[in-house]
Amino acid sequence: MKLATITIFLIIALSVNLNSKQIDKKFVVYIYGNEVNRENLKALSKLKIYAIVTNNYDALSLIKEFNFKAIAILMPFKLIDREYIRDINGSIINYGFGSGCPNSEKIRNKSLEKIETLLLKGFDGISLDVIRYPSLSEDSHALSTCFCKSCILKMGKDLKRFKKIASSISVKNLPLDWLAFRSNCIVEYCTLAYKLVKKYDAELWLDVFSPSFAPLVAQDLKRLSQVADVIQPMIYTRGSGIACLATEIKAIARALDKNEQDALIKTYKLLGFPPNLPTKFDKLDRLPDEVITSEVKKANTLCKCKVIPLIFIENCNKDEIKSMINATNSEIIGLFHCNKRNISLLTDI
Ligand SMILES: [Zn+2]
Repeated sequence: MKLATITIFLIIALSVNLNSKQIDKKFVVYIYGNEVNRENLKALSKLKIYAIVTNNYDALSLIKEFNFKAIAILMPFKLIDREYIRDINGSIINYGFGSGCPNSEKIRNKSLEKIETLLLKGFDGISLDVIRYPSLSEDSHALSTCFCKSCILKMGKDLKRFKKIASSISVKNLPLDWLAFRSNCIVEYCTLAYKLVKKYDAELWLDVFSPSFAPLVAQDLKRLSQVADVIQPMIYTRGSGIACLATEIKAIARALDKNEQDALIKTYKLLGFPPNLPTKFDKLDRLPDEVITSEVKKANTLCKCKVIPLIFIENCNKDEIKSMINATNSEIIGLFHCNKRNISLLTDI
């Protein structure tokens, strides 16, 4: 064989080998409602599945048929009995897909009951979502919440001082004792949930805002990781909903400066983001993958427990998903969320 022929043969062999190389990662798959069906689970079993996270509690036995670890997701602060979050004037703040105050005893007790029911059903773990205060993207008064009856009672002698702080708070001026009071409330609830989950020898997973944004919604990742088995930072560099980075960045930027470009530069500086990110709002919906890498690094530095980064794969193509997965530098990656379309992309990566 001539040298040129051998070279071509080698190049072809090498490229076939590279193309067929599967991503050697484990996945946590978020799969909701009637997407949890036999066909989709069968397709998923082609991947290395670390766990299935679902809100379809009736699908537990089906998930178990496939020998997957089953984690039930819930929002513990779902509103009941008008136990709203309120601003300094007592006005209602709507947030968190219909959530109420994290300090309401009624809400806390009801959610702990719900957790216990799911553990008795046989789930291997519980994943808590929206364990936070409102975000700036949901309400411009988010940072000054909450002054409901439960919270006022909890503040005790600090009420007057906290009212003063809350009336002049901004992203540029965040008094540490106010941030600590709010994050203590979330840690307090998660500690109760953790103790309950451990009674059943199960796991507690916490879905949190991406590390740079977490303190603004009262999530102290370092302390939360001491009462959790898994922390899942939502590093959503795609998408436009609440918790998606584009949405949260815009909300902070608007609070910092009227000029779009200046506002974004100030926001990146405040958040400790990598340099050279987009300086226009309409360019934020596809943030570079280096943001994922740096946010995962922050989460790993802060957390004492296992960190499983969650990436947003809706409306992404195969190459984008692959690139985001690699950017996490993690062995286990959470995928939000998996429907039939996304599962077929994933099994083809
Ligand atoms: Zn409250």
